[in-house]
Amino acid sequence: MADKTIHFKLITPEKIVFEDDVEAVYAKGEKGSFGILPNHIPFMSTLAIDVARVIKNGVNINFSIIGGTFQFKNNEAIILTEAAECGNDIDTTRAQLAKERAEARLSSAETMKDIKTANAALARAMARLKAASRN
Ligand code: ATP
Repeated sequence: MADKTIHFKLITPEKIVFEDDVEAVYAKGEKGSFGILPNHIPFMSTLAIDVARVIKNGVNINFSIIGGTFQFKNNEAIILTEAAECGNDIDTTRAQLAKERAEARLSSAETMKDIKTANAALARAMARLKAASRN
């Protein structure tokens, strides 16, 4: 009989942020957003700095995802990422301050490297604010 859930693991170099059986996983790859339901064919993607969402017992849980990779096979989904937080665990004041710092650095950036670093910090802060606002 076909499975009704996906075993989902969200892993950073520091810890397993989340591991549970879920009904669906949605994330943003570098080529666009995708969604995976149980019994999907094997799938792999790199990940953008954005939000991933799972549905557990009919409830959405949002996570900030700081790039990385997504793999799905045999009803197991794994995200390996530099950093991830559940929306409920995000310190929004910290993320807001990080966003403002990144914007200030962008407006005074003098080199491509400055722009790239500030843009990455801005994307991290925006992903955190988005995940926090959706939970
Ligand atoms: P900041 O400038 O606020 O440190 P950052 O984007 O430089 O933000 P990261 O280097 O991506 O932070 O993350 C460092 C650690 O802090 C990671 O473990 C990450 O999960 C955690 N972290 C970063 N920002 C937040 C936040 N707003 N709320 C909760 N945890 C956070």
